[in-house]
Amino acid sequence: MKCQKCHHNEATIHVQDLGDFCLSCHNELMAELQGMEQPEVFPKNLSVKAADGHRHRFIITTMILPGMVIWRAVEKNGGYEFVYHARPADNQTTAFERLLEKIEQGLSYQSLESEADGPLFDNAIEIAAAPFSLKAIGTFRIDYDSQDDTASLIIDGKAVALADWGRALTAYEGFNLDYQIRDLAEAVLGPETVLKPVSINPDQIDARFKRTLGWFLEDGFLSTARASACEDALYDCIDDLKLLCQSGDRETAQKLGQRISKRLLAVENDDDSFPEYLLTQIDAALAL
Ligand SMILES: [Zn+2]
Repeated sequence: MKCQKCHHNEATIHVQDLGDFCLSCHNELMAELQGMEQPEVFPKNLSVKAADGHRHRFIITTMILPGMVIWRAVEKNGGYEFVYHARPADNQTTAFERLLEKIEQGLSYQSLESEADGPLFDNAIEIAAAPFSLKAIGTFRIDYDSQDDTASLIIDGKAVALADWGRALTAYEGFNLDYQIRDLAEAVLGPETVLKPVSINPDQIDARFKRTLGWFLEDGFLSTARASACEDALYDCIDDLKLLCQSGDRETAQKLGQRISKRLLAVENDDDSFPEYLLTQIDAALAL
């Protein structure tokens, strides 16, 4: 079926009550409906070098939806995939740069370690006749082939069978493996990154926020000299609020966000812009 706007490209997206469109016409329509400027044309193809020296080529697509712009990079002839969510009101050039940063971050760390020069372990994962072991910190995407009814893991852009992964894990026999399944749109692991348990208990986030704010107040007053350091310190608490919103209860996160915003607005200060930056960050953390 042809797109009913340009009558040229194949229609791939159906919008209820509006019809069938190609991606580019769909985006034009969605931008128009939300009073958003038409996004510029960004490179559709790009290549990025990974930690192992190989270049990976990506196809970039943008999809505008009500309240959200999805930026997606899918590897050509490979399994890497990265997603960044922006809001229609955000600067889309910045969103494109964030996606690029994410690709670079994701490619700069590999979860598999080449064992080509080492002794061959029984539990090595074999990919294209080359042996690999699993590093103690890593990430993969879960893939399911509904035709074959088989699951596999995409590690460093390569498909690894579940059984092979399980065998490679035995290198760590007796250790614990913690896990957290996250949306593709969330931050990716890179070099010098570890996973650290963080409490997303709302009372603890609230208490931490109050304590941090307290460091910068003198008799309840925030001087302009301390405002920017205070904003930096509170930024980490907003990060925890974001985690609560994504992995915990969304409604609780919204209520806590409102309470924190109210408290910030009540802080007496002589700074021109406090607490505007923090309020926008809180809104952004709770919006996506
Ligand atoms: Zn079209």
